[in-house]
Amino acid sequence: MIEIKSLKETNEKLDFVIKNIDAVTANTIRRLIVSEIPIMAIEAVNVIKNNSALYDEMLSHRLGLIPFKTDLSSYNLKEKCKCKEKGCALCELTLSLKATGPCTVYSEDIKSKDPKVKPVYPKMPIVKLLKGQTLELEIIAILGHGKDHAKFSPGLVHYQAYPKIKVTNCKGSSKCVEVCPKDVFQVSNKKVKVVNEINCILCKACEEACPHGAINIEDSKTDFIFHVESWGQLKPKKLLLTAIDMLEDKLDDFNKSLKKLK
Ligand SMILES: [Zn+2]
Repeated sequence: MIEIKSLKETNEKLDFVIKNIDAVTANTIRRLIVSEIPIMAIEAVNVIKNNSALYDEMLSHRLGLIPFKTDLSSYNLKEKCKCKEKGCALCELTLSLKATGPCTVYSEDIKSKDPKVKPVYPKMPIVKLLKGQTLELEIIAILGHGKDHAKFSPGLVHYQAYPKIKVTNCKGSSKCVEVCPKDVFQVSNKKVKVVNEINCILCKACEEACPHGAINIEDSKTDFIFHVESWGQLKPKKLLLTAIDMLEDKLDDFNKSLKKLK
C-alpha cells in the first residue's frame, strides 16, 4: 500500500516521503504538476497608451511572467469552454493597468475584476515611468498549461530515491562522519550510527571513505523523497491533489476509449 509522510510544509514548499510506488509513477506525478496543471497567466495585452522606455512587446513579455493566484473552480480552459474558444467570462479574465509618471509601476498596480485572481507578489517591478510618461493597458488572463509556455508552470518538483543505508561490522574509524556533507552519521560508543537518513543525497562519499568497507548505500526502487515548490499560484498541497485528480481523469478517459474498441 502507498504510504505518504510529510516532512515539511510551508505556503511555498512541501517535502514528503512516498513509499511503495516506482520511478515511473514518481515521474508521472512530477510531470503532471510541472506541465499539466492549469494556471492563470496573462495571455494578451491591448496597449492603449505606452510612451515608457519599454516598447510594447517587452512590456507584454514582462507582464506575462507575473504569477497570478489561480482559482481553478471558477474558470475553464479556453479550449474546453462552452464558448468554443471565442472567449467569455468563464475562460477569460479582463484586467487593467493605468499609471502616470514619475513612478515605478509594480504588479500590484494591475487591477483585477476578480479579487481571487491577483498577482502573487505585489511588489514585482514592471517599468519605471518618468514625468510625462503614461501607461494604459487592457489585459486578458487565461488558464493554460506549463507544457505550452513556462508562464503557466505552477512550480518546481524534484525527487530522489530514498537512501537505504546499511552499516555492518563498524570498527569506529568515524571517517564517514568527517566526509558526509549532510551530517547523516554520528559516533556513539565507538560505533557509527545513522541519525539523519533523510538528509542523505546519495553522494556515497562515506562508502569510499570507510577503510573497512562497513557502509553500503543503495537507492530505493520503491520509496522516494519529493520536494514540491510552488511559484505561488496554488498551494503546494493543492498542486499534488490536483495532479492526482488529473491522473484519475486521464485513466478514466483511457478506460472509456479502450471500451469503445471492438
Ligand atoms: Zn469561454
